[in-house]
Amino acid sequence: MSNSQKSTTGSRPSPTIEDYLAALYVMQRDGENIVAARVAESLEVSAPTVTITLKRMERDGWLSAESKNITLTEAGIQAAQSVIRRHMLTEWMLARMLNVPWSRIHAEAHQIEHTISDEIEAQMRAQLSDPQLCPHGNPLPGYESLSAEWSSLTDVQAGEHIIIRRIHETAEDNAQLLQYLEDNGIIPGAEAIVSEILPFNQTLTLEIKGKKSILGFSAARYIGVDILENIKKTE
Ligand SMILES: [Zn+2]
Ligand SMILES: [Zn+2]
Repeated sequence: MSNSQKSTTGSRPSPTIEDYLAALYVMQRDGENIVAARVAESLEVSAPTVTITLKRMERDGWLSAESKNITLTEAGIQAAQSVIRRHMLTEWMLARMLNVPWSRIHAEAHQIEHTISDEIEAQMRAQLSDPQLCPHGNPLPGYESLSAEWSSLTDVQAGEHIIIRRIHETAEDNAQLLQYLEDNGIIPGAEAIVSEILPFNQTLTLEIKGKKSILGFSAARYIGVDILENIKKTE
């Protein structure tokens, strides 16, 4: 089968390649440069393995690599969007139908996402009333504009009221961080006050329903928020 037929016939890449495609898609979406070292970090594999796999993906028509500039092809984008949609719908299914704790749905969905057929995906979408964000607040493909206006928690001033909107995909891979966020109520929809920022310590303190918790800047940068004043202005 030629590369150009791939996206229209619905044949799927292997689970490994689907994981690469999803990671590359997120980097491309966020305007990050796609480099082997970043991909290796994101997928927790060695850089030489990444280099070999990226070469194979180029050969198979999922990406193009001109003068070290890696971009997904149209077939690559479509395949990535497909697996990301299946992943996010599975997260909702696990959360809503099976009551799997919020901090565990990402890891569980990651095991299941590759096995879902297009027919089941369509049924899940209908049953779940076509969600536009995953339970972590990340946009389903096609709904990226929803998250465009959100600020990073590291850009918020002390004393400001915020609503937590999003825990970025990069942070979803950190199970310990997700557990901490869940335990402290730092999940999409939660209202919070940024009560203290300590730049010398690289930490900030969030207050949610009277309970204080501390976050490092390295985690806070992956949290997207709405600043409440801005929300009131637009209402
Ligand atoms: Zn996820
Ligand atoms: Zn998610």
